[in-house]
Amino acid sequence: MRFDTQLIHAGEPETRVRGAVVLPIFQSSTYASESGAGYHDLRYLRLSNSPNHEVLHAKLAALEGGEAAVVTASGMAAISTALLALLRSGDHMLAQRCLYGGTHALVTQDLPALGIETTFVDADDPAAWAAALRPNTRAFYCESLTNPTLELGDLPGIAAFARNHGLVSVIDSTFASPVNLRPIEHGFDLVVHSATKYLNGHSDIVAGAVIGRAELVARVRHKLDHLGGSLDPHACFLLHRGLKTLGVRVRHQNQTALTLARWLVEHPAVAHVNYPGLPTHPHHGRAQGLLAGFGGMLSFELRGGADAVGRFLDAVALAIDAPSLGGPETLVSSPARTSHVGLEPGMRRALGIGDGLIRLSVGLEDAADLIADLGRALVGSTRAPAVDATDDDAPADPSRTTR
Ligand code: PLP
Repeated sequence: MRFDTQLIHAGEPETRVRGAVVLPIFQSSTYASESGAGYHDLRYLRLSNSPNHEVLHAKLAALEGGEAAVVTASGMAAISTALLALLRSGDHMLAQRCLYGGTHALVTQDLPALGIETTFVDADDPAAWAAALRPNTRAFYCESLTNPTLELGDLPGIAAFARNHGLVSVIDSTFASPVNLRPIEHGFDLVVHSATKYLNGHSDIVAGAVIGRAELVARVRHKLDHLGGSLDPHACFLLHRGLKTLGVRVRHQNQTALTLARWLVEHPAVAHVNYPGLPTHPHHGRAQGLLAGFGGMLSFELRGGADAVGRFLDAVALAIDAPSLGGPETLVSSPARTSHVGLEPGMRRALGIGDGLIRLSVGLEDAADLIADLGRALVGSTRAPAVDATDDDAPADPSRTTR
């Protein structure tokens, strides 16, 4: 089966439940034991072995080209459980700089408290990886496209380096989704996802997934059984439903994001656009080789800095000022005010996250309507605030529409 067919048919039960085309929700916490069954045959929701879990595990493994998969209660449950399954006190890990904020906090706050140390490295600098290696280094953790500057590290290089040095390579591929990148084909051992984003794609659940070599996924499952971060069957059902349209959604988002990036780069209110589909992106050549599509995420710097960001976010009408990504609604956010607010400003700027940066998760709306909306907001972002807001003679600002 090819990818789009796998989305619909991979992992589906051979016998349909009472003929139902869609697998029903098995909302039962426990299952009657069959005669002669042993302890390891028990079915219980925390053990992630309901029919709703099993179909997802098989489908996700097929989509990423992995041997096995397990779904989790959130993306952070996938990441924390995977790392705790791989690492123990006294171990060391290499990690790409500029990780998702929640992962950064886990790695810099929680893991050190358990005796697990991390060295952050440039994902483009193999000499730095070798220099940071220690006898107790066990894993190399990176992301497919970084948030919010959309950097694309030397991913095949990382996987090969990990293999050559006996490390487990783990990649958070949330931003790319398996439509645009299948990291296991490039040598990665484990792929983690916030399934909250593209995999589900409808902004209505929080979920995660870990996919990869069977022996490693079994270790993650075992840890998940202990830590308890299993996914509820109703959320499994929604993720299963969302996955079926992953291909059409992401390809549409790829196309709209490229259209918007090309338009934004020409806009006078925009200083800079980060999108791997643009020839100006530092990793454009690598992106052309590695990615099937450049993705639905982009970011851009407003010439007017932090003040312009406030005016822009107030002025958008279709796009919603909200965190998260990968859903049908176009979302905008200011990383300096939200996802990366915890970083010291100098560090933020060093990572390319200026106060004027806007992150955009492109939804499924028509590109022309998004351009009209963002265009109005960009014009609004360049306007100085009215001196007297109660002045009836002041010209109406057409960009200030209700959300
Ligand atoms: N990884 C990435 C790249 C993310 O953007 C997020 C959330 O924004 C996560 C992981 C965490 O996922 P969740 O919110 O589902 O726990």
